[in-house]
Amino acid sequence: MKTTTLLPVNKEFRINNIFCVGKNYADHAKEMGGDIPKEPIIFLKPTSAVIKSGTPIILPAMSNNVHHEVELTVLIGKHGKDIPLTEAMLHVAGYGVGLDMTMRDKQSEAKKGGNPWSISKGFDTSAPLSSFMEASKVPDPHNLEIRLTVNGKERQHSNTKNMIFRIDVLISFLSSIFTLEEGDIIYTGTPEGVAQVTAGDVLEAEIPGVGKILHTVQ
Ligand code: MG
Repeated sequence: MKTTTLLPVNKEFRINNIFCVGKNYADHAKEMGGDIPKEPIIFLKPTSAVIKSGTPIILPAMSNNVHHEVELTVLIGKHGKDIPLTEAMLHVAGYGVGLDMTMRDKQSEAKKGGNPWSISKGFDTSAPLSSFMEASKVPDPHNLEIRLTVNGKERQHSNTKNMIFRIDVLISFLSSIFTLEEGDIIYTGTPEGVAQVTAGDVLEAEIPGVGKILHTVQ
């Protein structure tokens, strides 16, 4: 069982479903050579993929090209189905930072073959995740600096204001398909700058005021 903590109240949550959004920043959609999506692209990660800050990311032997993707994460605090846009933010318990580690070569093969992304996105250690900061302590989740350094050098740096589909839209959309439950997590997509990691790299992902994680790559 995977858990996470909501700060500063120190409430523990059992992690339920993990929803992820693809191509939610225009500049990342461009670098992936794709069009800007007209509705959210959704995939899931298994809870077995989650690791906490300080735990190594293990490169799978089957891939020669594992990429980092730094993302704002949302912790759902309240059950809901068909949540109207106007009520969506009431379902957020808190915000965190996560990495959506991706076997880019395996993902490309899957895309070409019309196959699912589960292996390329859901392998063990593919979901580094910080603890969460209570929503009431985050003045504007759509104006947060988001950054990732690898070995001290900046690789990704953007602001959550650049998201294509905002958090309320994502929650409303997801809840029209999946019943949302306490402990669900949403990875809201990565900005531009995704690139390969190699063994020995040290990744530091941060959204100031929200969370920070540090991982070595093995
Ligand atoms: Mg991603």
